[in-house]
Amino acid sequence: MKLLFLCMLLCMGSAQAEEIAHNTKVNEWLITNAMVVVGVGTPAEGPKDIHIKQGKIQQIQSSREDSELRKAGLKTIDAKSGYVLPGFINMHVHTMYKRAGIEMAQPYQHYLWLANGITTIRDLGSDLDETLKQREQSAKHEIIAPRMFVYPGIWGNHLEKDLEKTIKNYQKKGVDGLKFGMMDKQTFTSASKIAKKYGLKVANHVGVEDMNAWDNINAGTTTIEHWYGVPDAALHGVQNFPPDMNYSNELHRFRYAGRLWREADLDKLDSVLQGMVDADVAWNPTLVIYEASRDLQRATSSPWFNDYLHPGLEKFFQPSADSHGSFFWGWTTTDEVFWKNNYQIWFKALRDFADKGGIITTGEDAGYIYQVFGFGLLRELQLQQEAGFHPLEVIKHATVNGAKVLGQGDQLGQVRIGYKADLIIVNGNPLADLSVLWPRNIPTMTGDETTGGIVWTLKDGIPYHVPTMLKAVREMVRKARKENPIDYLVQ
Ligand SMILES: [Zn+2]
Repeated sequence: MKLLFLCMLLCMGSAQAEEIAHNTKVNEWLITNAMVVVGVGTPAEGPKDIHIKQGKIQQIQSSREDSELRKAGLKTIDAKSGYVLPGFINMHVHTMYKRAGIEMAQPYQHYLWLANGITTIRDLGSDLDETLKQREQSAKHEIIAPRMFVYPGIWGNHLEKDLEKTIKNYQKKGVDGLKFGMMDKQTFTSASKIAKKYGLKVANHVGVEDMNAWDNINAGTTTIEHWYGVPDAALHGVQNFPPDMNYSNELHRFRYAGRLWREADLDKLDSVLQGMVDADVAWNPTLVIYEASRDLQRATSSPWFNDYLHPGLEKFFQPSADSHGSFFWGWTTTDEVFWKNNYQIWFKALRDFADKGGIITTGEDAGYIYQVFGFGLLRELQLQQEAGFHPLEVIKHATVNGAKVLGQGDQLGQVRIGYKADLIIVNGNPLADLSVLWPRNIPTMTGDETTGGIVWTLKDGIPYHVPTMLKAVREMVRKARKENPIDYLVQ
């Protein structure tokens, strides 16, 4: 009897210690000793054990050696008092299969997104058929990739009958929504009406057009991307452009964008923000994609370039009139100073918008302007903290809010019973320092190399081991550099 008892203890002990392996589908398993950040803005709780069953969170309970769950001998990941958060939702990505003429085959992006904690992406324009195929493969776990929502882009001005044809065709292909970019008022109004008819959500990148955020409010646009259109709706007339301003010149475009927020009338801006809140228009600011405008030196010397910058991106980022957003050939200190001030007004508008009840999400738009996939989103989190949001709110923007805007708020974006087990396990406390989310081989802000890093990312309860994926990415980058020797290194 005693022997049997001893054996039971030992057997259970060894079963408990068995760690689940990278990319294995296990019906039922356990995360132990986790500090849990639910995602809704409440403080961390723990240590807790999280029981995962059939890809969903089945139970969350206080960690106890003698609990029934522990005794069940399930496969386990011991979080070792690290933090468990909902996986991040990246609301602005472009899946890229080639950059600057250089092949950039998957899983380069997929691994980088997962490794940086991103379990869901909203693709706002890429090779549609290929990305739809990958959406299905990801849903069936045939590839290691985040969950995908696909919104193909419609850019510029079109006749209503052509818009109808295009949107109908997209809907037939099974898209999740649409991205509209730089349309005049007439095109935007027609396109919004047709999108509504086909039941499709709309993400809108407004340009300098005869439309602005008031048109988004009237049309009930799902998200305003970036920020254009918001201060534009609060101007007295048009922006004070110099006579030689040429909108086709990207140096001009980005330069004078940096002088836009200061021209907004703050009372008018207040009504615009209230209008967005009332019409349920969410805001996906992508602060990160303009960071080079306010600090070129920082943007061009990111610590992840050494190991993770694909030569296709590196080539594309070089100042050139041919690559969108690579406008730095004539950038000046004065431009940076204007942009630094621009950010302060933008930050304040975001806080006011959130105070009124507005929904802010997180997105990176990487692949442009020195931003690398996944790392871009983590930098976005830091910038949202800089805008004045508590890290708990920033995490809410990246999880709960994204899920809500995607129409998935009842199953994604929270560490909560019944929700999909899309989670990250971090070796450290991101509430104390968001830079602990950076990959393990990149020192945190404090230079600490003994902690930090997302160790596991889960999608549908399947655990992906981050160091394993990052090692594969480093190999892909080394190989691509060898095949595409280029004689400049961004840093
Ligand atoms: Zn974009």
